[in-house]
Amino acid sequence: MKNIITSVMHNNKTYAVKPLFTEQQISERVSQIAIEISAHYDPEDTLTVLVVLHGAFLFAADLVRQLPFATEIASVRLKSYEGTTSTGEVRCEGVFPNLSEKNVLIIEDIIDTGRSMEFLHNSFAAQNLKSLRVVSLLDKPGQYPSHLKPDHVGFAIGKNFVIGYGLDLDGKFRNLPYVAEILI
Ligand code: 5GP
Ligand code: MG
Repeated sequence: MKNIITSVMHNNKTYAVKPLFTEQQISERVSQIAIEISAHYDPEDTLTVLVVLHGAFLFAADLVRQLPFATEIASVRLKSYEGTTSTGEVRCEGVFPNLSEKNVLIIEDIIDTGRSMEFLHNSFAAQNLKSLRVVSLLDKPGQYPSHLKPDHVGFAIGKNFVIGYGLDLDGKFRNLPYVAEILI
C-alpha cells in the first residue's frame, strides 16, 4: 500500500488512522459496481454522470472508465462539512446544472446524514430528468431516511470519519489511494 499514514493532526490533537479498504479492494469493487450499473441501461443510452465534487472525483474517474456507454460528465460542488463534523447545511458552490431529458447517474463519495442527497433530489425535482440513479462509494447506513438510499453502494462502513480516495480532512488526504478511518 502506498502513502501509508498512521496518524493525523486535527485541532492540535493527534488521531490514529486505520486503513479500511486497500487500493486493490477498491479497484475490484469499482469493476463490480460498473457491471451492476450497466445492467440498468440500454447499451444505446447516453448516460450523464454528475460527479459530486470534490469527494467523488477519484471514484468517478475510475468508474466512468469501466462504463460501456457514451457518457457525458457534469459536476456540482457541494459543501457541508467543517473538519470532521457536518454543519447541517448544504451549499452548492456555483450554478446547479440543468440536466433535463438526461439519464443521470449521481456519483457520490459517501452518504452520512443524507442532507447532500436530499439537496440533490430537491434540486432535480424541478427538472424533467429522463432517469435518475445514485451510486455512492461508501454508505454509513441507518443515519438517513430510506428514500435517500443510493441504488448502488461500494462499501457499507461504520460511523467513524473516513479519509482517502477522494475524501478529505480539512481539504487534505484526498490523494491517498486507499480509504482509512480516523479513530476519534
Ligand atoms: P451527508 O450530507 O450525507 O451528511 O454527507 C455527505 C457529504 O459529507 C459527503 O459527500 C462527504 O463529502 C462528506 N462526508 C460525510 N461523511 C464523511 C466522512 O466520514 N469523511 C469525509 N471525508 N467526508 C464525509
Ligand atoms: Mg460528497
